Amino acid sequence: MNYTENISKIMFILGKKLKKFETPVATEISEKTRDPFMVLVSCLLSLRTMDKITGPISEKLFEIAKTPEEIADISLEKLEKIIKSVNYYKTKARRIKDISKILLEKYNGKVPDKFEELMSLKGVGKKTASIVMVYGYNKSHYIPVDSHVHVITNRLGWVKTKNADQTMDELMKIISKKNRLDLNDLFVRLGQNICTTVSPFCSKCPINNYCPKIGIKNSR
Ligand code: SF4
Repeated sequence: MNYTENISKIMFILGKKLKKFETPVATEISEKTRDPFMVLVSCLLSLRTMDKITGPISEKLFEIAKTPEEIADISLEKLEKIIKSVNYYKTKARRIKDISKILLEKYNGKVPDKFEELMSLKGVGKKTASIVMVYGYNKSHYIPVDSHVHVITNRLGWVKTKNADQTMDELMKIISKKNRLDLNDLFVRLGQNICTTVSPFCSKCPINNYCPKIGIKNSR
C-alpha cells in the first residue's frame, strides 16, 4: 500500500486547519526575531521540555542576554538560575555557554549556516541543526524531526522508522521542497493538539479520512 500519494493534499489541509492552534516555540521565535542564535538557544532549551515552559524561559533569557557575547559574559550560575525551569538546566546552561564561546572564537560570533558545521557543535544533533536551518535561515532543504513529526509520519505510513534521525532521512526522500518548510510547524501543532502520543483525537482530526492510523490501538 502506498500511503505517500496524498502527502500534498494532507499538507494543504493541515495548512488550512491548524493555524488556529498556538504557535510552536521554534516558529514563534523565528517569526519574532529572525535570529539564528536565538532559534538555536531556544531549541537547546526545548529538548525534553514542553513548549509552554520553553517559550517564557527563552523570552526571560533573551531579555538579559541574546547574543553569544552577552551569554559568554554572564556567569554559569546566573544562566542556570534564569533557565532553572527547563529540564536538565545545568547541562543546557553549560552547553549554551560552551557554544557561545565557540561561536565567538571560531565563527566571528555568528551561527554557521552549514548543516555539518552546526552538527559539529557539542549538543547539536540533526534535529537542532535542521531547526536552525529552517527557522533561523529559512533554508528549505532540511526537515526538523522531533517526536511529533516522528510519531505522526509513522502513523500516516509515510515512513516506517525506529527513531527521529531515520525519519528525517526517509522524509528527505519523499517530501517536496515546497512542503519542507512547513512540515515541522504543522506536525508539532497536530501532535500538541490532536494527534497526541497516547490515544489521539482521530474523530476530530482534519486528515482522518486520509490516515491509515498505523499502530493506533486506542483513539478518541
Ligand atoms: S487520524 Fe488519528 S492517527 Fe491519523 S493523524 Fe489524525 S489523530 Fe493522528
